[in-house]
Amino acid sequence: MALIVHKYGGTSMGSTERIRHVAKRVAKWARAGHQMVVVPSAMSGETNRLLGLAKELAPSKPTDAYNRELDMLAATGEQVASALLAIALQAEGMESVSYAGWQVPIRTNSAYTKARIESIDDARVRADLMAGRVVIVTGFQGLDELGNITTLGRGGSDTSAVAVAAAMKAEECLIYTDVDGVYTTDPRVVPEARRLKTVSFEEMLEMASMGSKVLQIRSVEFAGKYKVKLRVLSSFTPWDIDINEEAASGTLITFEEDEHMEQAIVAGIAFNRDEAKISVLGVPDKPGIAYQILGAVADANIEVDVIIQNISKDGKTDFSFTVNRGDYAKTVDLLREKVLPNLGAQEVVGDTKICKVSIVGIGMRSHVGVASKMFRVLSEEGINIQMISTSEIKTSVVIDEKYMELAVRALHKAFDLDLPLV
Ligand code: ASP
Ligand code: MG
Repeated sequence: MALIVHKYGGTSMGSTERIRHVAKRVAKWARAGHQMVVVPSAMSGETNRLLGLAKELAPSKPTDAYNRELDMLAATGEQVASALLAIALQAEGMESVSYAGWQVPIRTNSAYTKARIESIDDARVRADLMAGRVVIVTGFQGLDELGNITTLGRGGSDTSAVAVAAAMKAEECLIYTDVDGVYTTDPRVVPEARRLKTVSFEEMLEMASMGSKVLQIRSVEFAGKYKVKLRVLSSFTPWDIDINEEAASGTLITFEEDEHMEQAIVAGIAFNRDEAKISVLGVPDKPGIAYQILGAVADANIEVDVIIQNISKDGKTDFSFTVNRGDYAKTVDLLREKVLPNLGAQEVVGDTKICKVSIVGIGMRSHVGVASKMFRVLSEEGINIQMISTSEIKTSVVIDEKYMELAVRALHKAFDLDLPLV
């Protein structure tokens, strides 16, 4: 008998019929002798609907007062799902009880709409488990120090589930979703993409940060920090499939790198179309320049990703970096108005039609020539590389957006990811 956490996403909870299906699956696990804690998301579309209502009344404002009410509002979506799931479980003959985040309580800081979990008191949940109940812990929400309801950011119920699993030292946290696992790349771009049976926590972190939207990135960070055994799997298999088969399906996020080393050097190809490139041209080559440029950008709360600066010619150089596309105009304005005048640079130029393509794999640590193979593949396709950045387990290039699919397909093939699993 083990303590298991299940998390069900919005599509899995999308209708009363789906909720009944979830209840039958959870009941199967409980009847197999497990202590079950279940964290549901809001029914699909519900969070968007609720936030849309707020927008109808007032456009979003970056004030605490406004964001506090957004959290009050959005948290109701998950609360509905939790109660419905408890009712469905009771209808299946299971004893079940649901708790809102504030009833557990799950304590967070006060950063409304993107709060971070600080602690979880599991006494109440444990008592129910001991009494043989299936406990539903409402996802996405918590309680701040002043007693206000908070939410954890879009996709945040993944993080609720992992945090509950960590706090309760669960045997495993299973994230049930509408895909059957983590893929080598997006199957909509490369039909040959295949599901990974395992992916290391570090690889998952890189893939999640580059737009593979299977898991909220913070949940992966949490799992890494607290060594939570995490699996992503489909809720669309028949609920009554063999429990052992189900428990081994999907993708397991592993920590045992050695086991993984035998596998492909590159685990997956990630891409991101949400960035834009900005270059400050003719920058004097002297101390403090990077700070003057990027300090101003950071002060405006704008996140920067790839950064490059070349060596100088005649004491001048060019400085380029990428930001989120949504922050592009704001960043360019900021640089032109506030930074250029003091910098002695010539001009600020930019390009929003770029994308970032990355190869990710912990095998890159111990193999040379992986990055150069990537560059060769791109050159054979005639794709110009505008920027490069590397980390121990990732090489990313910034290229023209129109070559994204071509680049991803060519790299997927070149790194043998098209081949079926052995
Ligand atoms: N319902 C929330 C959202 O749509 C949280 C979640 O689904 O994880 O972002
Ligand atoms: Mg999600």
